[in-house]
Amino acid sequence: MNTPKADLHVHLEGSLRPATVLDLDRRNGGEFAGLDERWLAERFRFRDFRHFADLYSTCTDVFRGPGDFARAVVELAEDLAGQGVVYAEVTCSAITHHRDRGIPFDELVDGLWDGAVTARRDSGVVVRFVLDHVRDLPVEDCLRTAEWCVLGRDRGVVALGLGGYEPGRPASLFAEAVRWAGERGVPFVPHAGEAAGADAVRDALAFDPPRLGHGFRAAEDPAVVEDLLARGTVLEVCPTSNLRTGVVADLAEHPARALHALGVPVVLGSDDPLLFGSTLVGEFEQAVTGLGLEPDDLIAVARASLVSALAEPEVRDELIAAHDRRSAWTAPNDP
Ligand SMILES: [Zn+2]
Repeated sequence: MNTPKADLHVHLEGSLRPATVLDLDRRNGGEFAGLDERWLAERFRFRDFRHFADLYSTCTDVFRGPGDFARAVVELAEDLAGQGVVYAEVTCSAITHHRDRGIPFDELVDGLWDGAVTARRDSGVVVRFVLDHVRDLPVEDCLRTAEWCVLGRDRGVVALGLGGYEPGRPASLFAEAVRWAGERGVPFVPHAGEAAGADAVRDALAFDPPRLGHGFRAAEDPAVVEDLLARGTVLEVCPTSNLRTGVVADLAEHPARALHALGVPVVLGSDDPLLFGSTLVGEFEQAVTGLGLEPDDLIAVARASLVSALAEPEVRDELIAAHDRRSAWTAPNDP
C-alpha cells in the first residue's frame, strides 16, 4: 500500500521508537537502566486504560528539551515515509510537558518545527502539528493550549485537539477555549465517541469540527449519524487501537463499517504505534480484512486523508496533485 497518503491521527509521545525511549531515559538518569528494547516493547503493549495512562506518562517523561521533540518528529517521519506517508498531522500534548517538567512553550514548538523541517528535507514527509488539551486537566489549561495553537501557527501548528479520558469530560466543557481558538482561525479536532457514546459525538459536533478522532460511536444514534453526514465530518478511524483498548471487540462489528457504507467520510490513523504495535500500512490492511472495505476503496481513503489535511491550502493541493499523478498509473488491484 504505497499510494501516497496521510496519517492524520498519530500521537508524538505514543510513537517513539523503543530504542529512543531507552536512549532518552538513559540520558535522563534512567528508570530502565540495563533493560533492552525487547523488554520495553513487551512492557509497552497495552493492557488496560490504567496501564495505558502509566505508559503514556512514561513516554511523555523522557522529553526534556527541544532536541528531543525534534528527534521524535524526525524518527516518526522516517518510519512513516517507509509506508508511503507523505503528510502527517502529529498530535503533541504540549500542556503535559509544560506542567510536568516546566518545558517552555517556545522551546517545545521550536523543537517540533526543527523536526518538521528536517523531516521534509530528509524523508520528504510534510509534518504539521495538533496541540491537544488533556481532558483530565483543568479547563484553564485548555485556554493556554488554545493560545499556544494560535502562537504556534508560524511553526506548523494547525489545530487544537482534545484527548484524555472521555467519560464525564465532553468537549463542551472546554467551549470557551475552543471558541477562542476558532475565532482566530484555529480548527478543533477532538477525540470523541471512543470511550464515550453518541452523546459525546453530538456534543463535539456543536463546534463543527472538520474531523473527529474515532467518532465511530455516533453509530449508536441515527440522528447523530445524520448530523455527521450533513456536516461531512471526517472520522479518523484507528482499527488496531480500537481492538487493543477493547472499545471494539471484533473488527467485523466495528461501527466504521456501517458508517463508511452510509457515506460518512473515513480516514485511517495509527494512533500510538509504540503502545499498540500499529502501523498505518497495517491499518489499511485491517480496513480490508476487518472493516470490509474493498481494496479499490483504499485509494479513495488515501486521497481523502490528503484532502482532509489542515495544512496550508497550497501544500495540501500539491500533495493531492502528487497523489493523483501517482494513482493514475497504479494498477487498481495493486494500491
Ligand atoms: Zn488518539
